[in-house]
Amino acid sequence: METPGRQATNRDIAERLALMARLLGITGDDRYRIAAYERAARQIDRLSLPVAGLDEEELTRIPGIGERIAGQIREIAATGTFGELKDLQAAIPGSVVELLAVAGVGPRTLHVLYGELGIRTLDDLERAVKGRRLRALSGFGAKKEATIRRGIEQFRQRSNRMTRPQADAVLAALPDGQYTVAGSYRRGSSTVGRLTVVAIKDRPETREGGDAGVDVRFTEPGRCGTALLCATGSAAFLERLGEVAARQGYRLTPEGLVETANGRLQEFASEEEVFSFLGMETVPPELREDRGEIELALRHALPGLVGISDVQGDLHAHTTWSDGRQSLEDVAEAGERRGYEYVVITDHSSRVRPEALTKQQAEIERVNRHHDCRLLSGSEVDIRSDGTLGYENRILADLDLVIASVHSGFSQDQDVLTRRILTAMENEHVDVIGHPTGRLLGRRPAYDVDLERVIAHAAATGTALEINASPHRLDLEDIYIRQAKMKGVKLAIGTDAHRNGEFANMRYGITLARRGWCTPDDVLNARSLSALLEWAA
Ligand SMILES: [Zn+2]
Ligand SMILES: [Zn+2]
Repeated sequence: METPGRQATNRDIAERLALMARLLGITGDDRYRIAAYERAARQIDRLSLPVAGLDEEELTRIPGIGERIAGQIREIAATGTFGELKDLQAAIPGSVVELLAVAGVGPRTLHVLYGELGIRTLDDLERAVKGRRLRALSGFGAKKEATIRRGIEQFRQRSNRMTRPQADAVLAALPDGQYTVAGSYRRGSSTVGRLTVVAIKDRPETREGGDAGVDVRFTEPGRCGTALLCATGSAAFLERLGEVAARQGYRLTPEGLVETANGRLQEFASEEEVFSFLGMETVPPELREDRGEIELALRHALPGLVGISDVQGDLHAHTTWSDGRQSLEDVAEAGERRGYEYVVITDHSSRVRPEALTKQQAEIERVNRHHDCRLLSGSEVDIRSDGTLGYENRILADLDLVIASVHSGFSQDQDVLTRRILTAMENEHVDVIGHPTGRLLGRRPAYDVDLERVIAHAAATGTALEINASPHRLDLEDIYIRQAKMKGVKLAIGTDAHRNGEFANMRYGITLARRGWCTPDDVLNARSLSALLEWAA
């Protein structure tokens, strides 16, 4: 995760300028002026040189940046925003700007909706759509109205999904020890639509659960096995498991297994007992998607999935040397507390000049003298828009581990974007591709990358792919993890921690790795320090 640091990043600046363009669009400003801000934002997002450090004259030498915008960039670098933007933001309610996230609603559309119908919120917009008021506006029509109606539906679905920490917070508010969590949360999904929990009947404290927007499935102690199994899902898994039970003369229900011949109920207090009764290995919840796990469980041949206790270290961490909020000491101490053998320091290449990197290496050596957890010297080096890397080879050669990541040019077309990543993998010093799709859950979709090509090339070049464990990224998704693993690609789980508490996010990465069928052998940071260094060399 890239949290804004002390100095505005190129992305921060590009976002301010892009917001300016959107706001001008809503007010119906001159389209050339809007285009100028859009162009400047794109230009700066693409540059790897940090523009916050440039003066006005240097800025105007960047194509597409005139004097006025150059002055505003200086203002952003100094204060985080600029006067004209603040004025516009004061004039247009924030809820209006948020409507731009609805598919089908661009600035020009919003200019009409806000100006002519006075629409300020999602509810306003929904009402206007239902009232068929949009089609009457000039340049709209029934088709446009239908597009916006679908956009609203998608937007609502999207924003109703919780990240795992949000779900954890809801669960933590439930009365202690009265519930077992089930549903997609238990299966380890990256986001959760609705929480499902199983509770024992006749315990009055359990009532409160329903109010918190949680589905409570009640059961009796002797029937917990099938109750939990059915509440956990997935639907596809349960259907296939039901077939296995049917072949043996039973019907699977939350109450238990019902003998088809005579209706007699067989009860189970635990899931293990159900699986064992059906002659199967217990299927870990993360695998319950009907992707071949039932057949393997019947043959007692499920993979031994990686667990949190297999983790020997963290491969992705930022410090105050770039945009992190923790010192090298802080990281070493956090690593020690977690019983890690190592943590790789991977500050951004865009924030650490080569000379500073040498200094950081000396500092790492000093810190390593008084800690059991060894800090390794690495980098998260930018894969620039043209496919070149943020450091020269002689600098990369000096590092213990190199993660290469895309942080700019997200809107490039699939072939260009994919080729950037393939080119980075061809560099012998690049060990890992960071957050391979760039998605930010609920905020930014993945960039358009061809993951099949990326995986094939990772296998060919011996490059690992990251499982970014930040609960806001959880990037790569499970099906691609499994595909990578099957091609022999190693997975590198990194928390991308920018502050101390974030090292605990490793558990989310492990859950995702398990959903991708990873064993300890597939996971780079399940290796000892010496084995890791040997792999990287
Ligand atoms: Zn990154
Ligand atoms: Zn990072």
